[in-house]
Amino acid sequence: NRTLERIMGVPRGGWRGKTDYELLPKERAEYYCREDRRILQDCVCRQVEEEVRMPDGQVHIFLANKFPLLDPQGQPYALCGISVNITERKQMEQQLRQVSDELARSNHQLEQAVQERTADLREAVQELHRFSYALMHDMRAPLRAMHSFVSVIQQNCAGCEQRQVFDFLGRIQAAAERMDALIRDSLDYAKAVQHHVRLSPVDLGRLLRGLIESYPNLQAPGAEIQLLEPLPRVVGNEAALTQCFANLLGNAVKFVAVGTRPQVQVRAEPREGCWRVWVEDNGIGICPEDQERIFEMFQRLDQGNYEGTGIGLAIVRKTVERMGGRLGVESEPGKGSRFWVELKRVEL
Ligand code: ADP
Repeated sequence: NRTLERIMGVPRGGWRGKTDYELLPKERAEYYCREDRRILQDCVCRQVEEEVRMPDGQVHIFLANKFPLLDPQGQPYALCGISVNITERKQMEQQLRQVSDELARSNHQLEQAVQERTADLREAVQELHRFSYALMHDMRAPLRAMHSFVSVIQQNCAGCEQRQVFDFLGRIQAAAERMDALIRDSLDYAKAVQHHVRLSPVDLGRLLRGLIESYPNLQAPGAEIQLLEPLPRVVGNEAALTQCFANLLGNAVKFVAVGTRPQVQVRAEPREGCWRVWVEDNGIGICPEDQERIFEMFQRLDQGNYEGTGIGLAIVRKTVERMGGRLGVESEPGKGSRFWVELKRVEL
């Protein structure tokens, strides 16, 4: 008809008398003929989507309603098709599909991020529970001590010698100091858990030399600390690294047998993508079953003989992890300990 001729840029009557085979590529012509024959045979109306190459070379999609025309005896004598160009609609549908795929993808990513954050939060809450439980538990001991000494003084004050009262007061003061140390270390731990540390290249040799100079307990003649230079530059935070190594070196010179002069070596060895820094001592050592729990809060193996709150290594582990590193220990009772810290390399 005229409209089809206009759309297809065909002169009036140009297609009259022509078969599909003369107008279309062979495969498409075969397909149309087959489909049209089926419509005529089944005597039904059928809706088909057809791709048509337009005069400008672009392919458009038409939705064709095809049905047979019947003679008075009810026999099909021709086929009629009414087509609507649905190219735009199809393109819109395609775009909509893309947008909805995109949406589903970002929804999925969002869900994953939410799940990860929830897991992090859950872990943080559990950590907080562990922390507060351990804190309450350990803080009650000095409080109980203070309470009982005060009671003794109150009950017996009249008959007490002054020397005895001073002794009790001294014990109360020691308990208060212990409580103070616990609170101070707990605050340090809370900071290590919460604070985001800014990372930059740090010269480990310079940092450790400065550290030893400022802590008298790390110096000769009381202790001997040997830095096996050169020590590398690592990715870290100066203040956080100072806190970590102050703890590790402090422990290394503290946990030695009575009468032994602490001897400590610090050296570094390259590992894949990082430096492993060893702090090796000649101390009392740690038996294998305790080597993991010492990194938890308030875990002290030898309560009586050495001062401490049992928080230091928990702080070190948290801080090292904040810097993207790891911390561990190798040790044998009586044969010293070898604590190691893995820190990221400075990429050149
Ligand atoms: P603190 O030093 O206050 O007791 P830490 O968290 O630093 O607490 O250490 C936890 C425990 O691990 C210590 O009480 C001690 O039993 C053990 N420990 C740590 N460092 C060493 C070491 N170098 N040698 C032997 N034992 C150690």
